[in-house]
Amino acid sequence: MPDALMPSALMTTYQPLPISLERGEGVHVWDTTGRQYLDASGGLAVCLLGHAHPFVTAAIQAQAASLIHSSNLYTIVHQERLGQVLTAVTQMDSAFFCNSGAEANECAIKLARLYGHGRNIELPTIVVMENAFHGRTLATVSATGRPKFQMGFEPLVPGFLRIPYNDIDALTQLTGNPNIVAVMLEPIQGEAGVIMPSPGYLKAVRAVCSQNNWLMIVDEIQAGLGRTGHFLAHQSAGISGDIVTLAKGLANGVPIGACLARGSVAPLFKPGQHGSTFGGNPLACRAALAVLETLEKESLIEKAAETGHYLQERLRKNLRGLAHVVDIRGQGLMIGIELDIPCRALLMQAAEKGLLINVANERVIRLLPALILTHAQADQISAILYDVIKGFAA
Ligand code: PLP
Repeated sequence: MPDALMPSALMTTYQPLPISLERGEGVHVWDTTGRQYLDASGGLAVCLLGHAHPFVTAAIQAQAASLIHSSNLYTIVHQERLGQVLTAVTQMDSAFFCNSGAEANECAIKLARLYGHGRNIELPTIVVMENAFHGRTLATVSATGRPKFQMGFEPLVPGFLRIPYNDIDALTQLTGNPNIVAVMLEPIQGEAGVIMPSPGYLKAVRAVCSQNNWLMIVDEIQAGLGRTGHFLAHQSAGISGDIVTLAKGLANGVPIGACLARGSVAPLFKPGQHGSTFGGNPLACRAALAVLETLEKESLIEKAAETGHYLQERLRKNLRGLAHVVDIRGQGLMIGIELDIPCRALLMQAAEKGLLINVANERVIRLLPALILTHAQADQISAILYDVIKGFAA
């Protein structure tokens, strides 16, 4: 425990709640006072299989006891295997492994620029979306569409052109721009408050990209890995991205990111053009293999679709009509409850009733629970949210 008498020695990037979690099992976590919570935020979409999943724990323990790190100077068997499994399940052709979502997106941005230079485009430009979130490194924060995350860090990285999400006309108006090489977007905008693509939008973006030889880069870091009832959220639109990025739940909490590429982009990097000391290490890759095996073995993607539907119905039945609730939306187990007032205060109020939630974009309660959630646990989430939103309104 930190020494309560000493000032925090951490940089003030976060404002953590006064709750310190010590242990987890399934969808539950316990704090240092022994208090139990139902974790409906899933460690921000990371704990896909719940906390301390025995199969993943055993894989991590076995790997930690044999080899945690070797460097990419040597062939890493688990990395090779993870590349094969991930590209097969996503129908992509190649993978690069790193340690976070931002790094996966950095890789995607570098690939798109390489692709552009290969076509003799000197100033390759990537179309990005208003309200997008792609990470906190300089390039990904420049691709991000929220001034709040960018202010103070100028000059931003050039080479991005921003248009509104869900506005296909804004995209088609850019088709004469010779510098554009790619469009980068989230299939559901998570940090923006679970903003859904309008019907037909993702398919229309795919068509514009294909017609103009632009790459479609899909950031699946939050929505991907089965949460929406599809392995990749954009698969529900019947399309494939040319570059797809993953992170968060891929190794159920062990840091990992992945950039997947398809077609002519897949072999673009030459040795030495990109790299990572830790990326693709045996521990993270072995954990990710255990996660992918469990997703399949326990039919968790189908379960996420079913339980997500149940939870959303339940929330609509219980919360619609409550003061301040303006919308309940989502896909599978990625759900937003939009209020008409800022609601960060609800984080602590829900925690006091034993529920961990998250608030995105000030006014949206965001639920990203583990895919193993049961109906009874969904009922519990809905009941506690009813209480806290009702109390909040009062
Ligand atoms: N992209 C999306 C859609 C995200 O939701 C996030 C994180 O919330 C990121 C990228 C950045 O991931 P990381 O925090 O692992 O760098």
